[in-house]
Amino acid sequence: MAPDAPESTDPAVTDEEVVTYEVRGPVAFVRLNRPQYRNAQNSRVTYALDAAFVRAVDDDAVKVIVLGGNGDHFCAGHDIGTPGRDIDQSFERKAVIWWDHVPAAGVDSRFARESEVYLGMCRRWREIPKPVIAMVQGACIAGGLMLAWSCDFIVAADDAFFSDPVVRMGIPGVEYFAHPWVTNPRAAKEMLFTGERMPAARAYELGMVNHVVPRAELEERTLQLAERIAEMPRLGLALAKKAVNQAEDLQGLRAGMDSVFGLHHAAHAHNAEVGGDSLGGVDVRRIKDAEAGR
Ligand code: ZN
Repeated sequence: MAPDAPESTDPAVTDEEVVTYEVRGPVAFVRLNRPQYRNAQNSRVTYALDAAFVRAVDDDAVKVIVLGGNGDHFCAGHDIGTPGRDIDQSFERKAVIWWDHVPAAGVDSRFARESEVYLGMCRRWREIPKPVIAMVQGACIAGGLMLAWSCDFIVAADDAFFSDPVVRMGIPGVEYFAHPWVTNPRAAKEMLFTGERMPAARAYELGMVNHVVPRAELEERTLQLAERIAEMPRLGLALAKKAVNQAEDLQGLRAGMDSVFGLHHAAHAHNAEVGGDSLGGVDVRRIKDAEAGR
């Protein structure tokens, strides 16, 4: 069992539909659906997203996928504190072949779990052969960045903000460490060193998001863009996507992420070793307090 304290799962939470799926013309909208928790991502959400993506890829009528979040926020990060937190549960693994993390302990458990549900799943989604657009409003924090960054590009509402506050936990960034590639090395350091919220306008300046649109127009503008893309031939899109992804990997994205994943796990292990908790004793409330006191 991972040392970072599993909490009991509320049956009411496990029964909810944590991801919604809607097709509009050639576009599938996949949305996180835990708005009461700012769409905090637990493993149920992760595997529901994966199933929705598979469904969209299997449907020949779907040409483009949009990933969004229901409610006021895209995603406030990995679930580290809701009643539906499920890090102590086993799921059928999809991203990597590794042993189940649940009966294991320490690094043996944590590395297994995060290789699958965090780094592995985001890499799997990055390789979805159809275009995937992230449609982001409100919070896009930590694990939320991983979701948005594994998409091909981002359309943001003017109220969107992006942050990775995990340095407060002594951890050098989230598991899908794309920060220097999706911004630039100096902006990545500022983002990590301060943990502050990057507004959509700044993310646009850095090239991290493609378009910033008024909040009220977010869905319509994203749909319009998706419909234009949908006119392209399927194979051409898939190969163009692969071409750019390969270019990013030649610029070190994949190898860089692998190397930082080791640092990330050194930090978790250090926290567990000296404090008994792999998150360094930081919870949602402490992060919110730190943001509020800024
Ligand atoms: Zn981690």
